[in-house]
Amino acid sequence: MQQKIAGLIGGMSWESSAHYYRLINEHVRDALGGTHSARLLLWSFDFAEIEALQRAGDWEGATARMIDAAQRLQAAGASCVVICTNTMHRMAQTVQDAIDIPLLHIADPTAVAAKAAGVKRIALLGTAFTMEQAFYRGRLEQAHGLQVIVPAAPDRAEVHRIIYDELVQGRVLAASQAFYRQVMERLVSEGAEGIILGCTEIMMLVGQADASVPVFDTTALHARAIADHLLGDQVGRPDPA
Ligand code: GLU
Repeated sequence: MQQKIAGLIGGMSWESSAHYYRLINEHVRDALGGTHSARLLLWSFDFAEIEALQRAGDWEGATARMIDAAQRLQAAGASCVVICTNTMHRMAQTVQDAIDIPLLHIADPTAVAAKAAGVKRIALLGTAFTMEQAFYRGRLEQAHGLQVIVPAAPDRAEVHRIIYDELVQGRVLAASQAFYRQVMERLVSEGAEGIILGCTEIMMLVGQADASVPVFDTTALHARAIADHLLGDQVGRPDPA
């Protein structure tokens, strides 16, 4: 049986899309062996265009870009669409409504993993849009029953700044890593039982070794969900490590 084809909406930023590409291909290789690799289509934005729309609060313009990309991927033969960023899930439902194939929402495998780990109260790190607007934490809370906390305002501002001024530009700085570690410890002291790396570049900066509670990397969890979609009912998938 042939794999399905995933349509990735990426370039937001390409730094994280490159990780998606590697992770999805690794899962498919591990499952199927030999020379197998993932059947993928990628629409990769110039992130400067998207970032300008975000900064201007032009969510209508940003939504139009996402719908256009999703429809191109569908027309090219994709059997699912994925938005390779947490922030741009702000318009996930509108994009889903504009296509006939499923959109694999990044918050769903994340919440499933958190609940499987026994986490109820979870901290969310991401862009200011993701941490402060309702679209993301609302899905975690209402669809999945998690209790979500976010850093205090000054920490949120710096977490956001590091994403845009450094990570999406491929800059991974020790001082910023130390800052994220401190923020995560503050969240643990406020009762967080787990931490969502709710921006697809944060995994470039910190990971499980940097926190005292379970960390949920949305890039890795989303990539795994995409690979599962591609492989569908194919037999022989090993259990996740
Ligand atoms: N990749 C990031 C995220 O997961 C930020 C870039 C963007 O705003 O799309 O939210």
